[in-house]
Amino acid sequence: MTRISLSETAHSLVRQYLPAGANAIDATLGNGHDTLFLARCVGESGHVHGFDVQLQALRATEQRLRQHDVISRATLIHASHAFMLEHIPQALHGRIRAIMFNLGYLPGADKGVITRTDSTLIAIDAACRLLSVAGILTILAYPGHAGGDEETLRLGEWCQRLDGRRFKTEIVLSRHDKPEAPRLFLIRKTD
Ligand code: SAH
Repeated sequence: MTRISLSETAHSLVRQYLPAGANAIDATLGNGHDTLFLARCVGESGHVHGFDVQLQALRATEQRLRQHDVISRATLIHASHAFMLEHIPQALHGRIRAIMFNLGYLPGADKGVITRTDSTLIAIDAACRLLSVAGILTILAYPGHAGGDEETLRLGEWCQRLDGRRFKTEIVLSRHDKPEAPRLFLIRKTD
């Protein structure tokens, strides 16, 4: 329940940042729900680049996009999001309107394959560079599992180090009374 509502919160915000024709990135394809959402927002003339380290996630996402007839709006890349700067065409650097991360493990797959703090932090640094002014970065984090605690803690510290003149940060908690509850980091690039 809580996961769905934070994911819906992210969607309702991101939608406002994505006019038709925009470019977006899904940094963690998973089962492709966010990719489909982004592909619908950007329309025929926009484009979504998506990353995942598991082939299973690429296949699931490709299938979902085909089912909804939006596969031509996406490029799915089998690589760590830590390398997104290298994979995204130079012409799009500084022009991406929305970048979404959904951390943790792929539901229904190997729980040993999870996002890792070090590569997550490299990836969100890269995401900040790829983002356009007036763009948004959303990161859904799950402190309640092994590795997720540290990752969420370090994300919070990373947010505090961001240049407040260029980025505005907000954290939405799914539940205020539980430290292990999922949380949504929202980073808007203002300058
Ligand atoms: N926790 C969410 C789903 C997260 S899916 C939920 O419960 O709904 C996270 C995805 O990130 C997985 O498909 C996993 O393979 C992917 N992933 C892990 N490390 C990655 C990396 N370094 N780069 C890109 N994707 C990664």
